[in-house]
Amino acid sequence: MTSTAERFHVVNLNLNVRGLRPSATLAINDRSNELRRQGRRVFKLGLGQSPFPVPLPVVEALKANAFRKDYLPVKGLPELREAVADYHRRRDHVPATGEDVLVGPGSKELMFLLQLVYYGDLLIPTPAWVSYAPQAQIIGRRVNWIPSRKSGGWRLMPEELDRLCRPDPDRPRIVVLNYPNNPTGLTYDPAELEALAAVARRYKVILLSDEIYGELHHRGEHVSIARYYPEGTIISGGLSKWCGAGGWRLGTFTFPRSLRWLLDAMAAVASETYTSTSAPIQHAAVVAFRGGSEIDRYLRCARRVLRALGRRCARNLQAAGVDVHTPQGAFYLFPDFGPVARKLRERGIRTSREFCERLLEDTGVALLPGEEFGRPPRELTARLAYVDFDGGHCMSSAESGPMDGELDEGFLELHCKNVLEAIDEIVQWLQS
Ligand code: PLP
Repeated sequence: MTSTAERFHVVNLNLNVRGLRPSATLAINDRSNELRRQGRRVFKLGLGQSPFPVPLPVVEALKANAFRKDYLPVKGLPELREAVADYHRRRDHVPATGEDVLVGPGSKELMFLLQLVYYGDLLIPTPAWVSYAPQAQIIGRRVNWIPSRKSGGWRLMPEELDRLCRPDPDRPRIVVLNYPNNPTGLTYDPAELEALAAVARRYKVILLSDEIYGELHHRGEHVSIARYYPEGTIISGGLSKWCGAGGWRLGTFTFPRSLRWLLDAMAAVASETYTSTSAPIQHAAVVAFRGGSEIDRYLRCARRVLRALGRRCARNLQAAGVDVHTPQGAFYLFPDFGPVARKLRERGIRTSREFCERLLEDTGVALLPGEEFGRPPRELTARLAYVDFDGGHCMSSAESGPMDGELDEGFLELHCKNVLEAIDEIVQWLQS
């Protein structure tokens, strides 16, 4: 029975927050841990966390800077802002300076601040990462979902963006573009980015280019849309994925000069909320963004493992009749179990949520339902994060062999056994 005091608090919740549940990715992780505690074997393909350790030079830098205790400037450590700008100048050919960079405790927090200070709609192509829309809901911004098609690689089509903007061309808008993409593992090629950039320029939209997986393009060929629309693109990045340091909480936004007013407004809010990002972490991040041969080697290794494993998982699912693209980056697949829907319906499974619940219950394989990514509930899609392996071990073995060419099947069977077994479990479950 709820007490009078509890009832009092419930009715006083901010209306934008009512009904909001904890982020789906974190919830599936809690559920998987709970099952493990009960002694069940669980394959953790739910939470999208890098399996690789933080590169050694970055860990060493963190140790060396552990004594730093002072608050840093709200926009970030000047040395880090310069290192991030230099990184984007080298990598993306944009004319950024340290003044254009804002450092925050994770790119997620920076996205929240951006939505808070900017007055306009949020346009999100689906499927999309789980947190963009809840952030808009918390702030009370309007969200427009932009549908995409599986046959088009779940990509945002320029015609679709044009169709949405044309009726009200001057309306202020932020369009979120995430590539390599969570949850699909797919990305855009330069010609596609150029075509999207042309539409974005026509309607002067702000592009929030979420490139947190850029360095995990499986061939190391990530291209930023900022090359084609520098004046309206904010590049979002950070240490969480390519540096394996999600728990360190460091994200960066790099703005064009024309959007300095947005950076300044976000920094003003930051100064009244989190003050500044952890000092030791910022010092360590300087080493990560400056890069060098050791970090290059780490990235080549990570990409090689992810590429081989992602392709193998996709192949095995495709052979079982599941519709799934071969991934191009990050560590995700977005399989569509629609082709086996009839069999699933016979077991009473009609939605992606029911699918994931039953799969976890019957096989111990944790996936996230497509519905969490903005897809219709009855579309039988799910996100599969192929990260349940010991990345440190895997990396040292991959490094000890030749660095080019495809990793062989034997390597995956030895080092990524859990993931391959999870795929087998799914296939057998579908066929049973
Ligand atoms: N964007 C995407 C697409 C993500 O998948 C994530 C994390 O899962 C983030 C942003 C947030 O990253 P950060 O750890 O920098 O807040």
